[in-house]
Amino acid sequence: MAVKNSMLANTDLKLDTILGRTIQCKCGLDHHVPVKGIFFSEDALHAFPEFLGRHIQERTALLVSDIRTHEIAGRETEKTLKNADWSIEVIRLPDSDKGSPVCDDTTYNMLLHQISHSPGICIAIGSGVINDLAKWVSFTLDTPYVVIATAASMNGFTAANVAPIIHGVKSLVRAHAPIGVFAQPSVIANAPYRLTAAGLGDILAKTVSVVDWELNHFLTNEPFCSFCAEIINEIEPIYLNHPEGVLARSPDEIQAVFNALNYSGLAMTMIGSSAPASGGEHLFSHTLDMMSLVDGIPHDLHGRQVGLGTLFAAALYDRLRKIRRLKFREMPNMIDRRFWGKLAAPVEGQYRNKLKNISKIKDRLADGNAWDRIRRNLLVKAKPPVLIAECLRRAGAARYLKDIGCSRERACRALSHLHEIRSRFTVVDLAWLAGILPDAADEIIDEWLLGDA
Ligand SMILES: [Zn+2]
Ligand SMILES: [Zn+2]
Repeated sequence: MAVKNSMLANTDLKLDTILGRTIQCKCGLDHHVPVKGIFFSEDALHAFPEFLGRHIQERTALLVSDIRTHEIAGRETEKTLKNADWSIEVIRLPDSDKGSPVCDDTTYNMLLHQISHSPGICIAIGSGVINDLAKWVSFTLDTPYVVIATAASMNGFTAANVAPIIHGVKSLVRAHAPIGVFAQPSVIANAPYRLTAAGLGDILAKTVSVVDWELNHFLTNEPFCSFCAEIINEIEPIYLNHPEGVLARSPDEIQAVFNALNYSGLAMTMIGSSAPASGGEHLFSHTLDMMSLVDGIPHDLHGRQVGLGTLFAAALYDRLRKIRRLKFREMPNMIDRRFWGKLAAPVEGQYRNKLKNISKIKDRLADGNAWDRIRRNLLVKAKPPVLIAECLRRAGAARYLKDIGCSRERACRALSHLHEIRSRFTVVDLAWLAGILPDAADEIIDEWLLGDA
């Protein structure tokens, strides 16, 4: 049963004390934290049977892995649980024709049909795709799940949603968070570095996404929670100030990236939306993914694209800060249907919903000294683009478009269409209203994203 905390003191709360609790927060909401344990230690797998024994009654488990993660952690997990008298069903997903397994409806159905009986617990052995598939399937089976992470590549471990491809379209499906996250530091540190660098890109998003969130709170009354927004503020300087430590796989920096991913994911679960960790910067990555679905050209890892999207959003904030008096420009009144091809209908629905709110947002922006307050109190909170660029460079993460295999022309098309894909207001829309976009997309590419092509 969840234990109630007393009123939350935002400044002196140790992060691990919130696990498994319901917190009465200063923001006025009760935040339920379904994740009961986050274990990052070499003996994490040995703590595993004891943890499961405490939370799961039926000693049957389904282990979901792929051929690589089974070797890295699956075999050992299976042995450990069998020694503790658990009965185990193992499903090792084969590679797809694109390489690693993909999180789509076909793989999900295949997995679901392979399961011989509903287990007491589902165990994901892996990160991105394996975690998403196990989360999705366990939610369908109404069974709790845990993840044994093999890479610090994204913040989806502790999130309650899954982002699969359904009928060829990237979708968002409600699921549940794991009851526990387990990882061995040596496994995370030795994961292919592009995965760790992707994880860093995904959490850098937070340096701008929380400003988008507060901006929405101010302009549209979206619920805002400073505890959730600031949840990784103490961890952030570790990798922001020492990105070389991430590249060198130093224990402190690797642990900081891993924890930041988990707690930023948890913030999304606690508030019930992606707002704490995802804003306008994520639209760049989502748009590149969607363009790939339309034209079949491959895209890079989520977090590697998000890192560059963060740089773009930070550059927009930098330009917005310099505008003393706001002169509105109209946003386009429709989407570019030809550009979106088979995705035009869902994109159009999102954009139409956005336009419904734009006139109210403009009124709010034009009201009295609202812009002055936004400039002075909110826009200054976004980290400067030079800091993001340097962090990406020094960490050996994707820093330029060429690093993610994206041409100047493709980036330009993505940046001039990304405001169309989601109804939620972001810095990208503010930049359109302020007349910065679409013109500045070219300049920002040249200034920040192109490098020596
Ligand atoms: Zn992300
Ligand atoms: Zn709160």
